[in-house]
Amino acid sequence: MSGTVDPVVARDDRYFWEGVAQRRLLIQRCTQCGVLRHPPAPMCGSCGSLEWDAQQASGRGRVLTWILSHHPNHPDVPARVVVLVELDEGVRLVSNLVDVPNDDPYAEYDDLGVMVDFREHDGVLLPVFAPVVAG
Ligand code: ZN
Repeated sequence: MSGTVDPVVARDDRYFWEGVAQRRLLIQRCTQCGVLRHPPAPMCGSCGSLEWDAQQASGRGRVLTWILSHHPNHPDVPARVVVLVELDEGVRLVSNLVDVPNDDPYAEYDDLGVMVDFREHDGVLLPVFAPVVAG
């Protein structure tokens, strides 16, 4: 085997992680027809164009569905709430829900309003979502 393909950050999603490093949530946008897409892909699913740029998302969205994820190798580590978030811009992404009790068997997060935040985990900055506190 040869080559220098990075197993974590592929070419198509490099912009996404560069945005995260700057605490910006970037979404890929087709420059031909304007459709937003996530996860990143080389070709527009709507018009087939290979031309794209990235737009900064508002970071606001709501929880479409979620699961409580227990780490298979570290039973003592608190479970994480894994969510599928639909951003106000209409694209969906999988992330973690933070700042909620994660040991409540009756927890209910469907349709919860959330806002992106960036938290460091094992030395890597990751996009996560926190509940929007109504004020
Ligand atoms: Zn397009």
